[in-house]
Amino acid sequence: MKIIADERCAGYAHPGHPERPERITRTLARLQDQDELSIKWVKPSEAGDAQILRAHAPELLARLQIPRDFDADTPFYENIASYARASVAAALDALNAARNGEHVFSVMRPPGHHATRDRAMGFCYLNNIAIATLEALATGTRRIAVFDFDVHHGNGTEGILLDRPGAAFFSVHQHPCYPGTGTGHSGNNCFNYPVAPGVPRETYRAVLTRALNDLKSFRPDLIAVSAGFDAYRHDPLVDGVLEAEDFHWLGRSLQAMNVSLFSLLEGGYSNDLPELILAYIKGVEGLPC
Ligand SMILES: [Zn+2]
Repeated sequence: MKIIADERCAGYAHPGHPERPERITRTLARLQDQDELSIKWVKPSEAGDAQILRAHAPELLARLQIPRDFDADTPFYENIASYARASVAAALDALNAARNGEHVFSVMRPPGHHATRDRAMGFCYLNNIAIATLEALATGTRRIAVFDFDVHHGNGTEGILLDRPGAAFFSVHQHPCYPGTGTGHSGNNCFNYPVAPGVPRETYRAVLTRALNDLKSFRPDLIAVSAGFDAYRHDPLVDGVLEAEDFHWLGRSLQAMNVSLFSLLEGGYSNDLPELILAYIKGVEGLPC
């Protein structure tokens, strides 16, 4: 398993904000302190403007330099543009690793799936997975599916990929919930699977299964995963129902499609995040939970 990470992504923080540096530092410590998985560690390279501007308006790149909060959830941080670009670079590196047949996970922050073409929002500044998806399509991939299992709808990814030939977006998320979108399918390629708060775990699993089956029917050449771990039972932000073994099952199910796959960290705010990520990675590697 290749892990793309850079501890420097823990270099920004806002008091009391759930999207905090410990999400990464504790996860990296946990992954370093285990011997079940053989891990190849790499740091992200660099992302170019041309790759970012396939997904975003130039005005958003300019806005990231202005020291003013983006919304109540999404503070301005010193050098946030550099942090966001490093997260994008890791996503592009993950794409390349997947194309080389490697199993790969990017453990970086900030996350990306709420960032729209022209707006930072929901703890997200640049849309890592959308940028990587458009890069894949621009460089030879014919059919790419994005699977987003973060408990929140990936509104930014959907907006950027809507009706893009060759791309399809599959999102399982709680509704009603932030950001309030994703109540039904959208355009000809965005498929949403809203789940009501408080449903039994088995129901949530059944919806995930349905989305995975639909993704398989799309017959992708490549799968990009927005891996958010906030549908977890003990996540502090949302009334989630999933357990660690469900994330293991997700990793195993995605890998079982026998299609090149890369995963990027999105949300996940509980203190158990390192265990949830480890469970998912073990699933991808075909190891027991
Ligand atoms: Zn989330």
